[in-house]
Amino acid sequence: MKRLVLAVILLASCGKTTPPPEESPLVALAAKATALQPELVAIRRDIHRHPELSGAESRTAGVVAERLRALGLEVRPGVGGHGVVAILRGGRPGPVVAYRADMDAVRGDEPPGREYGSTVPGVQHVCGHDVHTAIGIGVAGVLASVRERMPGTAVFLFQPAEENIQGAEAMIRDGAISDPRPDVIYALHSFPFPVGTVAQGAVFAGLDQFTLELTGEHSTQEVGQRVLTSLSRLGTVAPLKSAEQVAPHLADLQRPDSAYATAVYMNVKLGAAGNGNVLVRGSVKAGADAMYPRLRQAVKELVERELGATGYQLSFRDSVFPSMASDPRVTAEAAPALVEAIGEENVLSIHRTHIYSGEDFALFLQRVPGTMFLLGVANLERGILGAPHFPDFDVDEESILVGTKAMSAVVWQRLSQG
Ligand SMILES: [Zn+2]
Repeated sequence: MKRLVLAVILLASCGKTTPPPEESPLVALAAKATALQPELVAIRRDIHRHPELSGAESRTAGVVAERLRALGLEVRPGVGGHGVVAILRGGRPGPVVAYRADMDAVRGDEPPGREYGSTVPGVQHVCGHDVHTAIGIGVAGVLASVRERMPGTAVFLFQPAEENIQGAEAMIRDGAISDPRPDVIYALHSFPFPVGTVAQGAVFAGLDQFTLELTGEHSTQEVGQRVLTSLSRLGTVAPLKSAEQVAPHLADLQRPDSAYATAVYMNVKLGAAGNGNVLVRGSVKAGADAMYPRLRQAVKELVERELGATGYQLSFRDSVFPSMASDPRVTAEAAPALVEAIGEENVLSIHRTHIYSGEDFALFLQRVPGTMFLLGVANLERGILGAPHFPDFDVDEESILVGTKAMSAVVWQRLSQG
């Protein structure tokens, strides 16, 4: 208060009027995001009504390309399949900042009765990629509105085939991050945190997979079931199946001392090979990548103990798919923009591996420093749990505005830092 009085006296003595306080550029970005919100909701609903499986995202990619061309971006379609790369060049020099959104849907039928429900039998957006795509278009729209004063270059990567973890690799092979080469990359994923919040510093588990084909007299359902039961015991955590299980999981992810760093998630299923032999298929997810060699060894030893040396063929995927670990430095550098955009009370921090999902954004992070944010999409009062891959998955669409504001701010701040 004293300083303020002094300032007033000084200004009065100089005979000058008080200059207006300089407005943060993020205020204008937020206003633009708000103006775009109805259109972004419409885009999300349109994509939601027309979901496309991994590798088949032609319509979605067409919608994206058309919108981005209308915004004046340089658009390159067909990158790594149906991927779209769009470049927004600012009016001033600066760094190259990439933003990635995924576009594909998954198999399944959503609950009937939604006004924007899927029109494609057996295909649905239950991972929020329709929301991610709408937000990606939103961020492009916000930044395009200030392109003359924008430093640097924003590169938007709309990725196909995330669910089968093939799209990122295909886009990278096709030059998506070669020209221009990003200095940093961001992405976001829907998550069952409350709408209004964004969590920073996401870590998603890697993936190992094995196939055990039982041959000869071992090839029976009984033996398969017995081995499946034993292999399942290598897991230390059970899948999340209900709202009651989601809440403690969210709390654990934010606790540095929770046990997820050493957790193992085993998903083992019985099937049949083309020749009729019984197949045991497993996927293994670990709290840390360093655990996979030991887990492979444990699977081999267990199978040998159960079945002996012959009467089966056990094979693993060529190499373990890496975990997606946000870069702590990039995460910390983005925090001020995130706080300014959505309020400190709405910024959460992830400290442990989310073990139930992988993310092929991992492959971008192997090449470019970056971080993934988790967008709160839940609204329990409205019955929206917001847990991806739950059959009744839906989002509070207010999250589209929150995500667009937050990501526009993060990208703008990084572009402004040179
Ligand atoms: Zn997803």
